[in-house]
Amino acid sequence: MVREILVWPHPTLKQKALPVTRFDDSVRELVKDMFESMNAADGVGLAAPQIGVLKRVIVLDTSSKQPDLKPVAMINPEILNVEGSFVYKEGCLSVPGEAEDVERAAKVTVRYRDENGDQQTMTCEGLLATAVQHETDHLNGVMFVDHISALKREVIRKKMKKIQSYREEKKERRESAAEAR
Ligand SMILES: [Zn+2]
Repeated sequence: MVREILVWPHPTLKQKALPVTRFDDSVRELVKDMFESMNAADGVGLAAPQIGVLKRVIVLDTSSKQPDLKPVAMINPEILNVEGSFVYKEGCLSVPGEAEDVERAAKVTVRYRDENGDQQTMTCEGLLATAVQHETDHLNGVMFVDHISALKREVIRKKMKKIQSYREEKKERRESAAEAR
């Protein structure tokens, strides 16, 4: 099921997500919803807090830029090692329409659990390395806009407020139309 993606600065996006302890159907259902929501929004990554679920789950699909790489879900990801630096113009499904240069590590080794609870380790480079760091940040309540200048962040905050109020208006209009029926 495609879920609504929260827009920054929604308070849930500032919270720390909790580790997954039980690898049952509910976690697999969450992963499925996250892939569907990310694909519907044409994203390369999504973290569970972005759909309002405070669990340490991220999904990634950089195959549009890295055709050799398959989509992957990482549960309780932990970055073990970082190397080098890489600047990429990042966007975020919770900050629609915005993109800014962010400097992160060029290569990261990440340990995580897969959907069955099995431990995996992956070394990521290029866009996938950026995406892993961006999505892991979400699990700690950190947004890419926290890595840019305060001035740029405030400009984006104002734009997001407008998007939010527009969306709320639309929702209200839909609800009152439904009531009238
Ligand atoms: Zn994001």
